[in-house]
Amino acid sequence: MAINKEAYQQIQAELQQKNVKLVAVSKTKPVEDIQALYELGQRDFGENYVQELTEKASLLPSDIHWHFIGHLQSNKVKYLAPFVHLIHGVDSLKLLTEINRQAAKNNRIIDCLLQVHIATEETKFGLNEAELAMLLEELQNSELKNVRVLGLMGMASFSEDLEKVKSEFSLLKKLFDKYAASPSSPLSFQILSMGMSGDYRVAMEAGSTLVRIGSLLFGARS
Ligand SMILES: *Cc1c(COP(=O)(O)O)cnc(C)c1O
Repeated sequence: MAINKEAYQQIQAELQQKNVKLVAVSKTKPVEDIQALYELGQRDFGENYVQELTEKASLLPSDIHWHFIGHLQSNKVKYLAPFVHLIHGVDSLKLLTEINRQAAKNNRIIDCLLQVHIATEETKFGLNEAELAMLLEELQNSELKNVRVLGLMGMASFSEDLEKVKSEFSLLKKLFDKYAASPSSPLSFQILSMGMSGDYRVAMEAGSTLVRIGSLLFGARS
């Protein structure tokens, strides 16, 4: 499989106009493809599985920023803690507490995003609005010095209906703005991770600051 160089350059040009960051989602793709995109200048890559991420990281240049975008189990945090750049899918205080513990062991501060469930599809991952509010409150009352919650992440419904997708992204943006602006909050919200191959333009219109794109760059996954 070859990477799509034209798509990469065109997408980067679009994103840079709006100051939106690209995470290239390389799950299931070989290290050769990641290396090829790296040589075009890409430094941020995203993976969904811990073992796949750590194996690839060991084979690729050390200045890559690795993003974990899957569902992270507490017992696997220790494998990522030495080097992970940003963990996108955090949805419990238990997980944050373990990330904090492993970050402290590694003498690091690990940046995280909280995952909000905005799609209509049923999945057990992601917080609803009330759970998000509660988790942020718990966070402010806890002393987790080695994690930084920098924003929110979400996935829209898998749908052709772009109006529906747009309204889901807009809801996430509204929540992001609410907590970014909250004057009493010690949070420093800066990153709104939303948008994939099929909906990144809609996400950008709704205010995304970071998109996670796989298949447009690396080709469809089998
Ligand atoms: C796989 C995946 C992506 C990328 O999906 P594409 O449709 O290939 O761009 C983005 N975000 C998450 C959380 C993913 O699991």
